[in-house]
Amino acid sequence: MVWIGLLLIALLATGLAYARAPLWLWTLTGAAVLGLLSAAGFIEGALGAVSWAAFGSLALLFNLRPLRRQLITRHVLTAFRRVLPRMSDTEREAIDAGTVWWDAELFAGRPDWQRLLSLPAPRLSEEEQAFLDGPVERLCEMLDDWEITHERQDLPPEAWQYLKEQGFFGMIIPKRYGGLGFSALGHSEVVAKLTTRSGSAAVTVMVPNSLGPAELLLHYGTDAQKDYYLPRLASGEEIPCFALTGPEAGSDASAIPDVGRVCRATVGGEQDVLAIRLNWDKRYITLAPAATLLGLAFKLQDPDGLLGGAEHRGITLALIPTDTPGISIGKRHRPMNQAFLNGPTRGRDVLIPVDWIIGGAQMAGHGWRMLMESLAAGRSISLPALSAGSAKLVSRGTGAYAGIRRQFKTPVGQFEGVQEALARIGGNTYVIDAARIMTVMALDQGEKPAVVSAIVKYQLTERMRQVINDAMDVHGGRGICTGPRNYLARIYQGVPITITVEGANILTRSLIIFGQGAIRCHPYVLTEMRAANDEDRQRGLRDFDAALFSHIGFSLSNVARSLVLGLTGARWVRTPGNGIVAHYYRQLTRTSTSLALAADVVMVTLGGRLKRLERLSARLGDVLSYLYLASAALKRFEDQGRKEADRPLLHWSCREALYRSQTALDELFRNLPNRWIALLLRVLVFPLGMRYESPNDANDRRVARLLMRPSAARDRLTRGIFIGEADDPVGRVEHALSAAIAAESVMRKVQRALRSGLLEADTPEEQITEAVARAIIDENEASRLRAADAARYDAIMVDEFQPEDFGRGRDSSGITSSGRDRASA
Ligand SMILES: Cc1cc2nc3c(=O)[nH]c(=O)nc-3n(C[C@H](O)[C@H](O)[C@H](O)COP(=O)(O)OP(=O)(O)OC[C@H]3O[C@@H](n4cnc5c(N)ncnc54)[C@H](O)[C@@H]3O)c2cc1C
Repeated sequence: MVWIGLLLIALLATGLAYARAPLWLWTLTGAAVLGLLSAAGFIEGALGAVSWAAFGSLALLFNLRPLRRQLITRHVLTAFRRVLPRMSDTEREAIDAGTVWWDAELFAGRPDWQRLLSLPAPRLSEEEQAFLDGPVERLCEMLDDWEITHERQDLPPEAWQYLKEQGFFGMIIPKRYGGLGFSALGHSEVVAKLTTRSGSAAVTVMVPNSLGPAELLLHYGTDAQKDYYLPRLASGEEIPCFALTGPEAGSDASAIPDVGRVCRATVGGEQDVLAIRLNWDKRYITLAPAATLLGLAFKLQDPDGLLGGAEHRGITLALIPTDTPGISIGKRHRPMNQAFLNGPTRGRDVLIPVDWIIGGAQMAGHGWRMLMESLAAGRSISLPALSAGSAKLVSRGTGAYAGIRRQFKTPVGQFEGVQEALARIGGNTYVIDAARIMTVMALDQGEKPAVVSAIVKYQLTERMRQVINDAMDVHGGRGICTGPRNYLARIYQGVPITITVEGANILTRSLIIFGQGAIRCHPYVLTEMRAANDEDRQRGLRDFDAALFSHIGFSLSNVARSLVLGLTGARWVRTPGNGIVAHYYRQLTRTSTSLALAADVVMVTLGGRLKRLERLSARLGDVLSYLYLASAALKRFEDQGRKEADRPLLHWSCREALYRSQTALDELFRNLPNRWIALLLRVLVFPLGMRYESPNDANDRRVARLLMRPSAARDRLTRGIFIGEADDPVGRVEHALSAAIAAESVMRKVQRALRSGLLEADTPEEQITEAVARAIIDENEASRLRAADAARYDAIMVDEFQPEDFGRGRDSSGITSSGRDRASA
């Protein structure tokens, strides 16, 4: 009887916690339970009196806020201040930048799926579509990536001219300044499509439209700066670059040693100008070799107080014409055989007027905040678009190649080992593109999701790396030998660049995603931190108290929800939709609750130590990332009308995300320093063990087949890429695949005849001739077979070069075009 009573009480408490019941309801329920126990005679006499007295004291202590603050919260706040990690100004500005969005729902353990589904489906404006079908298509036709990367190591002059004329450099600049004023979606589609023709051209377009002079001017420029520079940037009259990184400051960009000192000097012939004397040493700067306008980040010092205020003003951003005396610019680095312009710049005693600071003198010292606030938009668009374009092209080419490349008399894509790689290529492409689109749609709704921008930067470039690695394996030597026919090598070589720029990936995963997410996405932590740092101690205590008790309710709820969802398989969670989609919504809800619980416990138990234990932080960030990616896959599936043919891709995306989340949580628990806490978390999160499974072989087979045969689903997956004619790198394998499919029925007749001994010839050509002679196929069918075989042979060939093409002393542009013609002939 006692056990049943205790069980009922435990169930009641679990129910209250699960429903995030307010404190008054807990108190009322407690009183009711105690009343029932007294009435039933379970607690009588002294025991009853003590129980009621204890309950009454606790009820008063928790419900009377002034009392609670003095007796409980004040002490917790003191302890909290002690463990609160020290945060520099630059860290604080990074944390405060941008907005939180769907990431906050996923972090809080109870995502409102309707909120996600209410995000509009992607739709380009007519103007954007016309730009893609017109200038972008035309530019793609003009570009030859081998010529660009190997022969010229630059875009051809006519491409530069076309980029300027058509406004490619002004996609983010509003129309009133002469720009194209594209949405984030439009901008992303342009970069993605260009990537499928030439990564170097895509980067050349991407950089002026990402974090740099235009973006900074739009948000912080004075009217005079905007009116002067934005039209010139939009028309391509100015080529911008943005220089932050230097030899001593890479990932730790806030440590730049470049200094500008405020002084009075003669600048450009004008005397006694309030000026800045600058010295800098920057490297890796994209477009610097051709730039006419340099966006520069430096630390401003004002030793004589000429601007008023502190001597050390902090990071400041200025726009400097590159023909200003003292600037050295023009040299190039050689980043991984790519041909976009990249190089160092140095400045010695360069004098600039103070009003060249972006936003004018009043923005002196606000550079880091400006950078952090502007980072989210560019980071959400550029590299995700580059990753999506590359992944789509690779999916298309690899699927086709696996269909036409035969070994052991079988297309290699029919071997299970190859299918495993193909499934990863297709599945990752689906996820990458879904996340790209969902993120840009959020930007178009006015969000600037800082944590999400780090997630997509990290995850999409890493997944693109996986896609291209798998594609190289499937292609074998065909992917390795570079030349005009090769559509993989430059993407493969370019991967480390995408991994390194805009926040190197190890750092982004280990430090940023969870580090920033834990503070920004958590419903209470930021309020608690702000309250702890509030100089008005009374207000701080009041705010901290409110946040702390909501936080406790939130944590109790996650404990209960984790256990209940784990025991029930989240069967009763309400979700939009039904069938398999509902199943995934439920499991993602469960994983989101697990993340909320684990994140809270890890933060409370490790406090500031978590900053050093980067691998724990990385795993928690991974779970948040997988939840985001799977949400994006579901959103895409819904937006595209739940197409039956896309199910294998959806299964792959959701199962992979759930399985990897489970692995990340498992590894987290295995590595938590406190083993008891780890055990407790494991019981709450995996009460029935680890049940999610990775995508299975049957599903992998379906994804592989989807890549290998033309279909609406394959077109949907690779929508927006550029594919040229049969003499184009990817066009060639696509053409061979179509020809092979057109000749499939004829091929079957020949193979049947071979198996039954009706044909005896050895080579394909002799077999065709014999088959015609024996009336197994007619002449028409024979020419279809011959065309398919010729196309297949052409598609499996790699480029060949003359020995002298490798010789020393040749023209530094490398192989000549006549050599190339000979090689491809
Ligand atoms: C092709 C190219 C183009 C670029 N374009 C520009 C540009 O236009 N403008 C510009 O200003 N910069 C540009 N950059 C610079 C780029 O942003 C930096 O390369 C990047 O910030 C990393 O710096 P780093 O290369 O010095 O690596 P490092 O900072 O030396 O990092 C080395 C490794 O350590 C890791 N790491 C560092 N700190 C931590 C940590 N706390 N925890 C875990 N891991 C850590 C990093 O993830 C990385 O893996 C470009 C770079 C390249 C290669």
